[in-house]
Amino acid sequence: MSAFGSWYWHALVTASYVGSRFRKLPRRYPRICNICGYEGSFGPAGKGTRNNAKCPRCKSAERYRLFKLWLDRQPQAFQGKDVLHFAPEKSITALVRPLARSYRTADITPGRADRVLNIEAIELPDASVDAVICFHVLEHVDDAKALSEMFRILRPGGTAAIMVPIVEGWARSYENPAIITPDQRTLHFGQFDHVRYYGADLRARIRAAGFELEEFTAEEPDVFRHGLIRGEKVFVAAKSAG
Ligand SMILES: [Zn+2]
Repeated sequence: MSAFGSWYWHALVTASYVGSRFRKLPRRYPRICNICGYEGSFGPAGKGTRNNAKCPRCKSAERYRLFKLWLDRQPQAFQGKDVLHFAPEKSITALVRPLARSYRTADITPGRADRVLNIEAIELPDASVDAVICFHVLEHVDDAKALSEMFRILRPGGTAAIMVPIVEGWARSYENPAIITPDQRTLHFGQFDHVRYYGADLRARIRAAGFELEEFTAEEPDVFRHGLIRGEKVFVAAKSAG
């Protein structure tokens, strides 16, 4: 290689290395991941539809960081409790398992969790768990059955933590029994296997199963600091102790 060729090659490699390091530096929108402690820019999520959404270190999406914020403020919901987690997300498992007295996961699909359970007809006795976690499940199922089953298996004083995709500007959830193919469901409900898109009447549906309802909402300064979705909620459904 000629002297010039060697210099050129060296300059190219150096520029490429410097560029790659620079791209990893925190840039315009630094965040703090409240799960893993990472500080810096977040990456896109949702196939690129949500910017500043995913922590590059622990891969947490917005809703996991929202849950962690709620958990830090209300750890007693799980501390020393018997917990059942439907359609388990690994990041949520890592947060809750260390707090719980017993922690089990459940899914309708074999191999995905500790137990195969159908949330519309849960094969567990009445009043047998203290806490249920059910994130992004209700939009896939008969939610009246699922909510009443969750209420049944909870002990008095127990809690169900619920998250769903929701359009708060809609008074009523959008359901349409004529929409049945995967493509139609994607078009109408946002995902191939969703059967509705929730509106604000989610609250009435939760209460109809017997629950009392509180809401933990993504607000400032948490939103900008931790890269949350503005107004996203953990719905905290409680079975009265009395
Ligand atoms: Zn993280």
